[in-house]
Amino acid sequence: MIRFDCHHVQGAFALDVAFAAEGGITALFGHSGSGKSTVIRLLAGLARPQRGRIEVEDTVLLDTGRGIDLKPHRRRLGLVFQDAQLFPHLSVRANLTYGRFFTPAAGRVVAFDPVVEVLGISHLLDRRPMTLSGGERQRVAIGRALLASPRLLLMDEPLASLDAERKLEVLPFIERLRDEFAIPIVYVSHAVEEVARLAARVVKLEGGKATAIGPPAEVLAPTLYATAADRFEAVS
Ligand code: ADP
Ligand code: MG
Repeated sequence: MIRFDCHHVQGAFALDVAFAAEGGITALFGHSGSGKSTVIRLLAGLARPQRGRIEVEDTVLLDTGRGIDLKPHRRRLGLVFQDAQLFPHLSVRANLTYGRFFTPAAGRVVAFDPVVEVLGISHLLDRRPMTLSGGERQRVAIGRALLASPRLLLMDEPLASLDAERKLEVLPFIERLRDEFAIPIVYVSHAVEEVARLAARVVKLEGGKATAIGPPAEVLAPTLYATAADRFEAVS
């Protein structure tokens, strides 16, 4: 269970977002500049809101009213960004086990073998990141985040740097990890197809506000309709 409610001002940009979500994938969906990464930074403790409360799996990470603000490393979250950011001098295996130096989040230890199997990277363990394709690198980055046994996995546009074909190659791995590990995921994307395929719940962001929250079929319908209408116009 995730409960997020923050008011955050950053220069001229003001974010006011509240949502609650159960397990599975919660997607933050919206155009560039709508505030998706800001929500991720607030969740991760990399930015501090003027006012807010964040609770994940019965742990209060932040409550400005009560002076609670856990440091990023104490929040026990796994992070995956657009760029895999693997350690170039370490093997895939060493990259994967890096996060295991930290204490796992209460009651949930993620084991090495199932992660490597689900992400299809068991044949890559002795390789260096430089020798991997973009899709393989992202799968290793996801594995590394997962193996730190986080209470929540944050993924900020994890497929955005991949071409269309690679995106399709990595998506099934994300679906499998969603289905086989009981770790809630907050997944940021501006791509409607990705969100429609992955998310149990969608939070649509516009100008720093959550303008729609609900199941994908409901929240994405206007976007899907607009996209289809554009295509129709383009061919007619
Ligand atoms: P998204 O991830 O949806 O593209 P962001 O959360 O990165 O959006 O950005 C939201 C707004 O905050 C944008 O207007 C952006 O220009 C602004 N912004 C992002 N990072 C900073 C920063 N470090 N300092 C000032 N403004 C920022
Ligand atoms: Mg962003």
